[in-house]
Amino acid sequence: MAQFALILNAGSSSLKFFICKRPPGHVWELESRGQIDGIGTNPHLKAKDATDKVLIDTDLASDVKDGAKAINALGDWIRSLYGGSAVAGVGHRVVHGGPNYPAPVVITPKVMDDLRALVPLAPLHQPYNLAALEAVAQRIPGIPQVACFDTSFHRGQSAVAELVPLPAEIRNAGVQRYGFHGLSYEYIASVLPEVAPSIAGGRVVVAHLGSGASLCAMLGGKSIDSTLGFTALDGLCMGTRPGSLDPGVVLYLFQQLGLSAKEVEALLYKKSGLLGISGISNDMRDLLPSAAPAARLAVDYFVYQCAKQIGALAAALGGIDALVFTAGIGENSPEIRRRICQASAWLGIQLDTAANESRQTLISMPDSPVSAWVIPTNEELMIARHTGRLLGLSGRS
Ligand code: AMP
Repeated sequence: MAQFALILNAGSSSLKFFICKRPPGHVWELESRGQIDGIGTNPHLKAKDATDKVLIDTDLASDVKDGAKAINALGDWIRSLYGGSAVAGVGHRVVHGGPNYPAPVVITPKVMDDLRALVPLAPLHQPYNLAALEAVAQRIPGIPQVACFDTSFHRGQSAVAELVPLPAEIRNAGVQRYGFHGLSYEYIASVLPEVAPSIAGGRVVVAHLGSGASLCAMLGGKSIDSTLGFTALDGLCMGTRPGSLDPGVVLYLFQQLGLSAKEVEALLYKKSGLLGISGISNDMRDLLPSAAPAARLAVDYFVYQCAKQIGALAAALGGIDALVFTAGIGENSPEIRRRICQASAWLGIQLDTAANESRQTLISMPDSPVSAWVIPTNEELMIARHTGRLLGLSGRS
């Protein structure tokens, strides 16, 4: 009988879900995917199957006011589709595993206590991730659950790569560079031996360019450095987050402009980056065709920072063999890829413009000293694999 795993990615007002199926003797595959959004305002459930056929697209009762109610609504829909006991396990994306979880883990009361202690490190995400774990346990007592962390893939970096250069008492309170987007990077590392065997063992910079954006320096498929640090604010310019910022700016916001902590938080997480620079949109699809000078500046800054920080990670790697693009912008925007590759030509990247425009996997010239690739990420499949493995749902996944 086919096994099903439910993969959840719970945010403040949305619950993304993926139902994965593993027919006997096969690998995990996507069965359906969807989202409940507008939780607390106008809750709406939409789901599609693996061929993009819409399975449901409906408003939910207005009492779906929080994550637990959303999980109940999702559970009712899944039950109506697949029957009562179809789901063998649930895998969750959990943003923070802290320093002590270098790998996904099966949920126990002790693990939940540890993850709750990390809430202050990721107050905008961790509480919602944990609320989803709790809501599933309440609805289906005893169902095995797995937490997969965005930070795990980066554990094992050197002491200098993880260091935040502040006094020991502050570092001892957990202030270090953690890195994020780890499930995406882990997925890319897992497919390189098959998709791009010539670079799998080498020095690779992976550019995860989506609404959140970061770079990962990989050596032989392991993370040795990344541009996101203590929080998901560092590094590259993102949709609504600034990326690297002189900390003196934050002091200035507090001391001279009199902003409150909540206002600074909203500024840094929701109003900066592409949106802040352009004043138009956080979406690259709106900015690229725009002739507005502020939109051009936002795109220029995005490309400039990417190229600059690719150079920094190439230095951390002692050279670079390949650059891999992934996530929404990285996978779908030939223009951004072209501009980043052109700005990185000094490293030895020679772009094949036709391959780039037609979105081939390999987008550099055959004799390019450094190769460039486009590889779609699949964080949910990564969570499904971990969940299947940890819960003994699969032999090979
Ligand atoms: P992600 O966070 O990986 O889902 O990526 C979402 C982002 O990808 C969106 O905010 C868009 O800015 C960007 N994106 C998606 N498709 C395109 C495209 N064709 N061209 C430029 N940017 C895109």
